[in-house]
Amino acid sequence: MIEFEYWWLMALPLFFALGWLAARVDINQLLSESSILPAAYFKGLNFLISDQHDKAVEAFIEAVEANADSLELHFALGSLFRRRGEVDKAIHLHLNLLERKEIAEPQKLAVMAELAQDYLKAGLFDRAEELFRSLDQTRYQLPALRALQEIYVREREWERAIETARELEKVSIVSMRKEIAQYYCELAVKYQHANDARSARQQLELALESNKNCVRANAMLGDMEEAAGAHENAIAMWKRIELQQPQYLGLIAPRMLKSYKALGKTPQGLAQMESYLKKYNLPSLLNVVYEAVLAEQGAAAAAQLARKELAHQPSLQLLDQFLQAQTEAGNGDPQDTQLMRHTLRTFLGSHSAYLCEQCGFRARHYHWQCPACNNWESFPPEPNELNP
Ligand SMILES: [Zn+2]
Repeated sequence: MIEFEYWWLMALPLFFALGWLAARVDINQLLSESSILPAAYFKGLNFLISDQHDKAVEAFIEAVEANADSLELHFALGSLFRRRGEVDKAIHLHLNLLERKEIAEPQKLAVMAELAQDYLKAGLFDRAEELFRSLDQTRYQLPALRALQEIYVREREWERAIETARELEKVSIVSMRKEIAQYYCELAVKYQHANDARSARQQLELALESNKNCVRANAMLGDMEEAAGAHENAIAMWKRIELQQPQYLGLIAPRMLKSYKALGKTPQGLAQMESYLKKYNLPSLLNVVYEAVLAEQGAAAAAQLARKELAHQPSLQLLDQFLQAQTEAGNGDPQDTQLMRHTLRTFLGSHSAYLCEQCGFRARHYHWQCPACNNWESFPPEPNELNP
């Protein structure tokens, strides 16, 4: 044991020496590299860091002029142009580089990758797609596939989006099943618009095959049954959502209850909703149950429900419903209650909102894809109550 520790003590100076040597090598390498870069490059970097982008661009142009052979400097300037929205200048710069005869093949690919990004930013999707496609099987394959996927989603070319997402899965090992299932659902929407229910159903089955947790596919399958008047089938489809992601039940509950009503089975429907509420305690489910109790069993029963729930969980929405039921049941001074409800409504905003978890976008209706950041299933299915 003593010998072992002794050896470590002997080794320590050796480690210090090695560390010192490594540091010296790095510093020397850095010094030799920095002597290649013109001073204007560092000036440009400084301006970038202090957010003076105009001056940064000037400095980078100067650096590129002084060092016309440096591809890295061109790329830095090009990406700066792109980020500032001066895409035409970035395109011009990269096209000029491509025309140079002395550029070797690997460097040419790098320029093409940059130019493709320019086209994408400029919204010139055809040109961007062509260039990104030509980067397949090169070391730019992964960013190219990501860009292609973005293009196909923006162009709503869902078959190609599915193909690309599958390729991306192979190359990047990141799962794309959520996205692929959503693309199938989008295809189903397309067939629905064309009144082709059979093909729409096929796409929704494919969505479920790609992602067994795809709530949207079951929601749409239920909607299609409902539209065809097959309410029993519709309810069966929607019920599957409980086994997928029960937090989405509140989103489906109003449609489900409507189908129960169409079948003349409102009490069964209400019992089903109450059992979901007991199990999952979702505010939106409570809302549905409250409305149904008010309509079916009257104000006194609704007030009792709201009172019971308020004791468990304080909620302004629930308080508003409680006051509403109280007024309808003929309890309290109607004018006072009106005043209280008005104050509550002002505080709550006229509508609750769904909030995107990725970008914070607020929406009045639920979206499967965020209209602001384009992410899929980024809205939690429960709306946010406070919406001042
Ligand atoms: Zn978003």
